[in-house]
Amino acid sequence: MPTATYPRVVLKPGREKPVIQRHPWIFSGAILKLPPNTADGAPDGAIVDVMDSADRWLARGLLNRASQIQVRILTWQQEEEINESFWQQRLTAAVVRRAPLLAQGDITACRLINGESDYLPGLIVDRFGDHLIAQIGILGMDQRKRELAEWLLQITGCQSISERSDTAARRLEGLEDAHGLLAGTPPPDQVEITEKGLRFVVELGGGQKTGFYMDQRSNRHAVAAYCAGATVLNGFSYTGAFAVHALAAGATHVTNIDSSVDALQMGEVNLTRNGFDPDCVTENIAGDIFQVLRDWRHDADSPRFDVVILDPPKFAHSKQQIDRALRGYKDINLLAIHLVKPGGILATFSCSGLVSADLFQKVIFGAAIDAGRDLQILEWRRQDIDHPVAITFPEGEYLKGLICRVL
Ligand code: SAH
Repeated sequence: MPTATYPRVVLKPGREKPVIQRHPWIFSGAILKLPPNTADGAPDGAIVDVMDSADRWLARGLLNRASQIQVRILTWQQEEEINESFWQQRLTAAVVRRAPLLAQGDITACRLINGESDYLPGLIVDRFGDHLIAQIGILGMDQRKRELAEWLLQITGCQSISERSDTAARRLEGLEDAHGLLAGTPPPDQVEITEKGLRFVVELGGGQKTGFYMDQRSNRHAVAAYCAGATVLNGFSYTGAFAVHALAAGATHVTNIDSSVDALQMGEVNLTRNGFDPDCVTENIAGDIFQVLRDWRHDADSPRFDVVILDPPKFAHSKQQIDRALRGYKDINLLAIHLVKPGGILATFSCSGLVSADLFQKVIFGAAIDAGRDLQILEWRRQDIDHPVAITFPEGEYLKGLICRVL
């Protein structure tokens, strides 16, 4: 038994099953009784015990009345106290699980902490060389972020940890965006990382998400395997990571399309760092890819490619957006399929967690039918291994992709 006692949240009768099955979220609708919202009771962000309606202990977690998810569970073991040693153990365990990946020697950036799936709800931490970037999504973690940051520096030996906490989820928790150094010495604006031996510049302060999409690491490698001697269309290219991998694998030319001019420029820097002359091996098109591909659709002389990659941003941020997102995926894939030479490859991804892999496959099926082309699925792809999915938390699965041959 812990020596500390925690205020109690009591569930409604019959609502304990997901908790027993170790789902880490407790929604407001499942809660019968909250402890008083006082400094000596349980202010938001406090640690609470979760009890079933018969007063049996179920779990312990972080409270936030302002969120629809009022408790995020930290432990299902009653004897486990939430103290300094608890946090340090959780952080260390997540970091240690990534050690083999970093020990490969040709990878210097990875996700170190993947939130709920690393049993640290609301905490995402990415490592870029000797610098860490945190994304804090929930109040309970936000209140503890400076100590967590100090411990993470001690555990990893990194020089800095900064936060880029600006996800939409934060606003649902009643939190403002937050940026800046949490611990250590101020990081440089840019760092160079390596991914499978290739070099990429990551802007620690700017860029999107945390600056580099590491969830696609293994997929870039997988797609590159089809790129020897190929012409490639890299749709939603961001800073050109798929392009660099494709060229390193022997692609003859890559056309990058992205709406962000900054991202395309950084893509040129990345090519140069890897010994490629951007003017010779790539073309950059800055603009809306839907529009570019639609224009090509009506142009008999438009280019065709051996390999087409589509890696769009998240289209569905809420359940209400799913239908629109599906139409977006269908449109862009239909347009892309037309551009693949017979026998070529379509590598298509979706990072919308609300669109399941099955549903995504159905959308690609629809696009293939409408395009009048036969597609063979060669590979079902997922997020890379530093973005694990706790089996009790299927919501952690978000990135899916298909590598298809287009006949
Ligand atoms: N494939 C990239 C990551 C892509 S992130 C990688 O491996 O690193 C999604 C990208 O899509 C962003 O760079 C964003 O600028 C771009 N984007 C979003 N909407 C777009 C649109 N309508 N047309 C072109 N690019 C778009």
